[in-house]
Amino acid sequence: MSWSNFNLIEVLNISGEAGVFARKSIPEGAVVGVFDGVAEIFTVDGQGQVDWRGHDGGMSIHLKLSDGILYAIMPNLGVGTSGIDYINHSCKPNCRADAGLLVVETIKNINKGEQLTLNYHDMDIIKLGRKCWCEDVPENERCVL
Ligand SMILES: [Zn+2]
Repeated sequence: MSWSNFNLIEVLNISGEAGVFARKSIPEGAVVGVFDGVAEIFTVDGQGQVDWRGHDGGMSIHLKLSDGILYAIMPNLGVGTSGIDYINHSCKPNCRADAGLLVVETIKNINKGEQLTLNYHDMDIIKLGRKCWCEDVPENERCVL
């Protein structure tokens, strides 16, 4: 179970996709959530391909890669995801993950109703080689996740 500052954020479904939005104006530097999960290790081959053993690699937080072993945190599947777990990616985010990638804080003042985003690129030590999907960023400037 992650922790979310529900005084500041809420999860809304916009056109079928969940995202994290500001309930009120949020100043820069505010902690809006803390990720949590289960520590897992995965093997990585010489090409950087990860054996996820059925886990959703896109939801992992990569903490360290050492000698072909990826140390990661995976959400507690079945326990229930909420709040900050739904923060979406942006190449131009208004939040960042700090303190070992687990604490999400704002890096700008955020207006009430604005969506909070995080650049997933910064979470990944191992790139999966897929371009991000930001429609407001030209194709050649999109980061590779
Ligand atoms: Zn992007």
